[in-house]
Amino acid sequence: MSVSAGLRYAELASELHRQGWALEAMASLPHISAAGAISTGTHGSGDATGTLSSAVRAVELVGPDGELRRLERGDVDFDGSVVAVGALGILARITLDLVPTYNIHQDIYLDLRWDSVYGNFDALTSAAYSVSMFTRWNEAGVYQAWLKAKSDTAPSDLFGAQPGTETQHMLDGAAVEGVTQQLGVPGPWHERLPHFRASHNPSRGDELQSEYFLPRENALEGMDAMRSLASQMAGVIQTSEIRSMRSDDLWLSGAYGRDTVAFHFTWVGDTDAVYALLPAMEELLLPLGARPHWGKCFVAERESLAPLYSRWDDFMVLRSRIDPEAKFANAWTQRVFG
Ligand SMILES: Cc1cc2nc3c(=O)[nH]c(=O)nc-3n(C[C@H](O)[C@H](O)[C@H](O)COP(=O)(O)OP(=O)(O)OC[C@H]3O[C@@H](n4cnc5c(N)ncnc54)[C@H](O)[C@@H]3O)c2cc1C
Repeated sequence: MSVSAGLRYAELASELHRQGWALEAMASLPHISAAGAISTGTHGSGDATGTLSSAVRAVELVGPDGELRRLERGDVDFDGSVVAVGALGILARITLDLVPTYNIHQDIYLDLRWDSVYGNFDALTSAAYSVSMFTRWNEAGVYQAWLKAKSDTAPSDLFGAQPGTETQHMLDGAAVEGVTQQLGVPGPWHERLPHFRASHNPSRGDELQSEYFLPRENALEGMDAMRSLASQMAGVIQTSEIRSMRSDDLWLSGAYGRDTVAFHFTWVGDTDAVYALLPAMEELLLPLGARPHWGKCFVAERESLAPLYSRWDDFMVLRSRIDPEAKFANAWTQRVFG
């Protein structure tokens, strides 16, 4: 399926479903465009599920010379050109891998203790097609685990956590009308895989976000690190979400070359407070191989980012060849890419 790059997943997904097709994954919100999601390495969750970018089989880009270029999976420049944060040109059309449409049911489990999380981490992230664990890294542990499953049944107990009997929002006091159907009611993939309904404002609407992609084998050490900062995060954090994804081949993807566990942070909308916290977090996470999400808040610059990506230098060569006059450069790319 080939689509205009500016199309939102909300419209794309409902039309695919109408025609009997589906995507393997969706992000937590369907409001975002295919171009914005794919360019930043946006993802959903699931041990066997790739990032949204990894479902791309071809891109058509307008380059700095105004010419349209088409790249397909297997072309020499393709793996460097999908997650590229706009630095290689303007995405105009995208061709995506599809699967036959499917149903999902969503169940929320409450109050998963830290010892259960540490003792059963692999079993937890593989407990359903898509698993999200919400925490504030404090003693409450994982206060909600969202399981999105293709099977007909849901476990009656998730390592000590019990299924909720009412619809849950992951943010305290936020309106539950905004979240997708829970309580085990099956429905089409695009109305269950995102946490938030297309018809409502996602999340709370007043927030900042950060996210770090860790090699799966360092996930538990990364959890220790974030728990050690729980008291510093209190008052700034609204929630944090632990998700998993399969490795991919896209040079600047958070999941490039390794199965991945991502720690997402929804902050309050206080820029100074958030940016005061990020250096301490990155000091602990980057040595574990954590890569920041390109579309969220982070402070790392080129010197500390480059060693995290084995194809970083290849991307820089590609960028110099495609855009020698740096027409697509801006202050952000200057900080991150140099
Ligand atoms: C409430 C909320 C929930 C979120 N949930 C998730 C989640 O579950 N998983 C996740 O990974 N992320 C998540 N995000 C982050 C989000 O996916 C990214 O910020 C994404 O980029 C937003 O898409 P957009 O269409 O708004 O992009 P934009 O903000 O429009 O674009 C983002 C960047 O993509 C590039 N870009 C955009 N359009 C083009 C184009 N046509 N050609 C070339 N480059 C282009 C540019 O570099 C641009 O700066 C969430 C964000 C919010 C606010």
